[in-house]
Amino acid sequence: MPDIWQTMSAEETAVRLQVDTSRGLGADEARARLERVGLNTLEKGPDIALWQMFLNQFKDFMVLVLLAATAISGFLGEWSDAVTISIIVLLNAILGVVQEQRAERSMEALRELTSPEARVVRDGVEIKIPAAELVPGDIVLLEAGDRVPADIRLARTVDLEAVEAVLTGESNPVCKHTRPLEKQVGPADAGNMLYMGTVLTRGRGLGIVVATGMATEVGQIAGMIKEAEQEPTPLQRRLAQLGKGLVTFCLAVCAVVVIVGIQRGEPVYRMFLTGVSLAVAAIPEGLPAIVTVALAIGVQRMINRNSIIRRLPAVETLGCATFICSDKTGTLTQNEMTVRRVHLAGRELEVTGEGYDPKGKFKGDGLDTQGADFAKMMSIAALCNNATLVRNNIAVGGLFRKPGQKKDPAWTVSGDPTEGALLVMAAKAGFWRERLEKKMRRLAEIPFDSDRKRMTVIYKTAGGRTEAYIKGAPDVVLGLCTHFLRDGRPVPLDKRTRGSILAANSAMADGALRVLAVAYRELSPGMNAGEAAPEEIESNLVFVGLAGMIDPPRPAAIQAVHTCRRAGIRVAMITGDHRLTARAVAREMGIAGRGSRVLTGAELEEMSEEELARVAENVHVYARVSPRHKLRIVRALKRNGHVVAMTGDGVNDAPAVKEADIGIAMGVSGTDVTREASAMVLADDNFSSIVAAVEEGRGIYDNIRKFIRYLLSCNVGEVLVMFLAVLGGMPLPLLPIQILWMNLVTDGLPAMALGVDPIDRNIMRRPPRDPQESIFSHGLGWRILSSGTVIAVLTLAVFGLSYADGRNLDLARTMAFNTLVFLQLVYVFSCRSEHATIWELGWLSNPHLVGATLISAVLQISVNYIPFLQPVFHTVPLGVHHWLTILGVALLPTLAGTVLGGVGSRLRERVTYLRV
Ligand code: ATP
Repeated sequence: MPDIWQTMSAEETAVRLQVDTSRGLGADEARARLERVGLNTLEKGPDIALWQMFLNQFKDFMVLVLLAATAISGFLGEWSDAVTISIIVLLNAILGVVQEQRAERSMEALRELTSPEARVVRDGVEIKIPAAELVPGDIVLLEAGDRVPADIRLARTVDLEAVEAVLTGESNPVCKHTRPLEKQVGPADAGNMLYMGTVLTRGRGLGIVVATGMATEVGQIAGMIKEAEQEPTPLQRRLAQLGKGLVTFCLAVCAVVVIVGIQRGEPVYRMFLTGVSLAVAAIPEGLPAIVTVALAIGVQRMINRNSIIRRLPAVETLGCATFICSDKTGTLTQNEMTVRRVHLAGRELEVTGEGYDPKGKFKGDGLDTQGADFAKMMSIAALCNNATLVRNNIAVGGLFRKPGQKKDPAWTVSGDPTEGALLVMAAKAGFWRERLEKKMRRLAEIPFDSDRKRMTVIYKTAGGRTEAYIKGAPDVVLGLCTHFLRDGRPVPLDKRTRGSILAANSAMADGALRVLAVAYRELSPGMNAGEAAPEEIESNLVFVGLAGMIDPPRPAAIQAVHTCRRAGIRVAMITGDHRLTARAVAREMGIAGRGSRVLTGAELEEMSEEELARVAENVHVYARVSPRHKLRIVRALKRNGHVVAMTGDGVNDAPAVKEADIGIAMGVSGTDVTREASAMVLADDNFSSIVAAVEEGRGIYDNIRKFIRYLLSCNVGEVLVMFLAVLGGMPLPLLPIQILWMNLVTDGLPAMALGVDPIDRNIMRRPPRDPQESIFSHGLGWRILSSGTVIAVLTLAVFGLSYADGRNLDLARTMAFNTLVFLQLVYVFSCRSEHATIWELGWLSNPHLVGATLISAVLQISVNYIPFLQPVFHTVPLGVHHWLTILGVALLPTLAGTVLGGVGSRLRERVTYLRV
């Protein structure tokens, strides 16, 4: 059915679908159609159900053993133990589901954020809408880099090419046109159609949506899409391995505890239950989920700072970044261009006015705004241009200002800002494309691309001539010129004039201006504008003039470059602009110094891989580069052992973005193809958001280390208490139920709260982390073992002394139980920093942690005092002196650590002082 469109003309298609191609659908009609046909999305596979998630919690082998052991103890008559253990296991499973669901929901939110948009014409206005809201009959505008959002019958094309590998398996681009076909064919041969999911690699086009959602070709073939699973991050993979090692180790220790206990005459089933409970408590089964939650929460925080993570591993890699390669235009600069200077007929003109407001004057000696040269320059600037000036969301094609109106509402530009600047310049001189086009007609266009660095349009003039208008990088355009315009006539371009034009270009570029040259030529009547080769059209040109535009740096980006320097991260600016412009901007931004080397695309081309790798180490500015050079730069830096972040926007940037350790795409100005190749998207295209993401990435890794330290130290403590007790011939200090309960109150909430700990203020003063380094590096392993030992020894001391005091085993156990829990709840605060003490950080500076600890403390106290829980947990009520002992012991390590830490840092200060 969809293929009937192939044999119809675009006009017939529009009539069939009841749409006017110039006005598009009306908002009401579009809404009605959306209600009728539904969203333009492919149906997803079913989500994982809640009950499935819940059942998954019981897949863990040790949990199953625990449940089996519980059932056995139930049969043996220990009913209250069995029921309580089951409840604790259930609570643990619920906690697991909550954690997983939270992670899942944040991932879903991410997917929605990166969902594609489409440019459509509705009610005569060009707007962007979510691609899911497209309906049949919508008029869609498309350009290179877009992923086709629905099945589309093309109505207009400019050099349009698409890669349709998803549908046809063919990876070479195919040319697209608008002619009706003679008979219906398969998608692979349908040159006048675009199909959902395919990618545009070149040119521009306009088409009519003919099918959406499941009615599209790909919808019919695929039936359902499977959500891409998030790949585990390197850290998650390493932790999974570590987990396996820990399980074996814990099981061995628990086995020893069980065997020794049985030998000493403890009941077999109780020792078995003790061993299994200990194993369950000691194995940090919640670790992977907490890591995912920490990553997901970090990702949420990044969204608030305008970076959207598409691949989870990027979160970790960001913290290791050593080199950030950034585009200049729009990322380091504001991409709000204003033409300031014009070089025309050997004269320098100044242009006044602000932003995109088409109000301003031309000033300069001997300026003749009525002359033919001036008129040619301005009309080419307006015509060789696809941007539109917009005021209050309405496209403006001429100035109709009421007299006396002082301040215009905000003017913006729809389309390329460089072209917007030229449009505004022409408008200031009274030249508007819409008005010129009343007498002239555009016949063809050779679009701009970053490799060609120029754009050409061909017009039929009022006098019946055919003329090509070209604008582009001055060195490129001037290379194609044989004449220059003087008093309305082409004059042969001699060496001296060429030299003076180049000098004018350099002078502007040196002042950080982005310069474009404007040229034209008359085409012979025999030349077919639509079919002639671009090289043929763009030759023997007549040079008209230069326009120099400012593009102010983003103030936040300057600050971010400074932050990078302190954080040991190098920044390289990569631009298609002139080397002098590039150097001047880099200097303004603090990326390069006065004498810094600028490597151009041409120089880079001459270098071997080895040479480039050597040179790249010290180059911070790349100018006049093409997208393919970016790939070589990434490879060279990676070869040198750098962890490279690389930005990209155009379709040709995708390979470099994919190759980089952290590929970064632009959310505003980027293309779908680059976004899909990237690991991260900048919602505001701003360089400073990359640096914010690096900071978050470092913070997340820090937080993961914090709760790993906490969880493992506590587990070491718990296992050691039991292990040392049985070895030392003491009675069991903790009962199985107490071990399981402790695991629940100490591991769950406090560990999660550590995952959202505020970022260390000095985090961007540290050097980047080595991606190969172990999670236990910088003394973390040692800290875990020593803290665990201290926790165990103190608990055993309290247990031993209490037992020796009154020979009341229940009391001694209650003391040990509470001491161990409160030692952990205080210790969690020390885990917040590896450098500062908790007194320096402030006990209350992570409110989540304070809340989590209070909840855990209340839960713990309740099992001591709620009468019906006392027999269940085998606790006895404690007096004030008992609590003073417990809290005193719980605070002891932190106080001792603070005193020792203080002495240590004093000593360090002394030593530094002596050294100075
Ligand atoms: P980046 O975004 O990577 O910092 P850039 O935007 O400066 O680089 P390109 O957009 O590739 O780089 O532009 C390269 C050169 O092409 C510019 O210096 C300019 O001279 C010329 N140019 C840019 N835009 C256009 C355009 N729309 N039409 C014609 N020429 C253009």
